[in-house]
Amino acid sequence: MPVDLRSDTVTRPTPAMRRAMADAEVGDDVLDGDPTVARLEERTARLLGKERALFFPTGSMANQTAIMLHAAPGSEALCDAGAHVIHWEMGAMAALAGVQPRPVTPAGAVMDAADLLGAARPRTRVAPSPGLVCLENTHNGAGGRVSSVAALRALREAAREIGVPVHLDGARLWNAAAATGSSLQELSDCADTVMVSFSKGLGAPVGAALAMPEALRERAWAIRKRLGGGMRQSGILAAAALHALDHHRERLPEDHANATRIAEVIAGAAGVRVVPPDTNIVMVDLPAGVTAAALIERCAADGVLISGWTATRVRLVTHLDVSATEASRAAAVVAEAITSLSGTS
Ligand SMILES: *Cc1c(COP(=O)(O)O)cnc(C)c1O
Repeated sequence: MPVDLRSDTVTRPTPAMRRAMADAEVGDDVLDGDPTVARLEERTARLLGKERALFFPTGSMANQTAIMLHAAPGSEALCDAGAHVIHWEMGAMAALAGVQPRPVTPAGAVMDAADLLGAARPRTRVAPSPGLVCLENTHNGAGGRVSSVAALRALREAAREIGVPVHLDGARLWNAAAATGSSLQELSDCADTVMVSFSKGLGAPVGAALAMPEALRERAWAIRKRLGGGMRQSGILAAAALHALDHHRERLPEDHANATRIAEVIAGAAGVRVVPPDTNIVMVDLPAGVTAAALIERCAADGVLISGWTATRVRLVTHLDVSATEASRAAAVVAEAITSLSGTS
């Protein structure tokens, strides 16, 4: 089996998770509710400190539902220029919500309050109005970067000044909590709505949730249904997420330690620049003459799968199905391949 570092979405359900799924009590969640989905929604809402949560098939659908809840067509969503909602959701914000992304280029690694206020403009009759601010924590494109509770509070204040609600794309909020020791609730306080994913580092096969105030729930339910996200005996999937919350959350620091080990080993190859990982994502900028495509092919031949981020940057992600030993071995393979391709050996 190759060591697969392409993404933390590649995890397979464990035998215990599959048993939890097989044993799940189910109902029709669209008709009159599924008891296991209800348990997951209650648990998620409580963890994030929100009144309600809804279970979604994907994080993208939950993010888009939040955008539709907060922003009117023709308004703009202020987001970090590298945000998932801009780059990896098939233009849904524009195509489905009718909302225009307004990418904010951060001065540092991720958008902060100063960046946001710098991008704000007065409401006039001739420019789109701001509709919402969208945050991402951890920030995937910035290399799994964590925003601190203090930075998030300042962003919340900035959004209040602009006069718009905040949505937090917290696909990997679990990792942010594990890395900082801040609670999920503290990390969620900055936002009106929060999306969390169960199918990244937590290792469930499918699923995400959107947490929100009670007042938004009916509309969110209707939007989810409109987008085709009404699921029936979805307790089978919710059971996997509940199992992941019980058994896979406390081990996330192992993924972070493995990412740090990988970063250290690869940083030893001549000419590379490694973004020091806060969590489970390692971004590597390659030396002149080494392309991501060539490196990916070479590593795959040696049993290590990595993904290209740009033509000269690769991304490695640690997760449940990668042990410390495999992480070390994979890092050595990648470092050696870089050295060999750059002709410096
Ligand atoms: C994976 C991810 C999502 C949602 O992804 P889905 O594949 O639609 O579940 C959203 N935001 C970030 C930052 C992600 O990494």
